[in-house]
Amino acid sequence: MSDIPKRITELKASLADGVKLLAVSKFHPAEKIMQAYEAGHRSFGESRPQELKLKYETLPKDIEWHMIGHLQTNKIKYIAPFVHLIESLDSERLAAAIDREAAKCGRTIDCLLEIHVTDEESKSGWEWSELKAFVEQGGFQHYPNIRIRGVMGMATYTDQESIVRSDFERLAACKAALAPYFGEAFDTLSMGMSDDYLVAMEYGSTEVRIGSTIFGEREY
Ligand SMILES: *Cc1c(COP(=O)(O)O)cnc(C)c1O
Repeated sequence: MSDIPKRITELKASLADGVKLLAVSKFHPAEKIMQAYEAGHRSFGESRPQELKLKYETLPKDIEWHMIGHLQTNKIKYIAPFVHLIESLDSERLAAAIDREAAKCGRTIDCLLEIHVTDEESKSGWEWSELKAFVEQGGFQHYPNIRIRGVMGMATYTDQESIVRSDFERLAACKAALAPYFGEAFDTLSMGMSDDYLVAMEYGSTEVRIGSTIFGEREY
């Protein structure tokens, strides 16, 4: 029998009150997602739009799909009709494009602002100074078909816990600084992965995104 239901149960028991578990199923086959689904889990995260669309089409329709990977403007159309939350909104150009696709579908799409807080070049996300300036100008008011729900980010990939802590602290501070510009729906701080989610919760994470602890190593 699969360990997936057991791992989900154990993870949930380790989460602070009110923290949501997003099961990151990228690169894992539909059968594994179904094992989690049959254990009652409904929120899954994917990083590639075409893979997300294919899984949406083949799996039960009450799954909430979260887009957590870098999104190119020409691929929004694959997920716009059904995506529950786009966590990787990282530029004005992308905001404009999501807004257009959402309008075409007659939907409002919920999004998180992905913020880049590490020194690593490879990680995507807004630079804080640019995002802050854009928000202060009321930039998102031009995009009525997206609703900004909060902030998403990643900590540095390192064994040095002090660096991870300061990254999460920064993300939490960014979320607090942005909150006055958005309404009550700005309630999400998505941070923490398999190796660092316990630390992330100390800094106020409301959603942890966990892949390998649930599904094992990814099959690229
Ligand atoms: C892959 C991924 C995760 C999950 O990582 P694990 O280490 O497998 O838990 C979380 N967030 C994002 C943005 C990812 O790309």
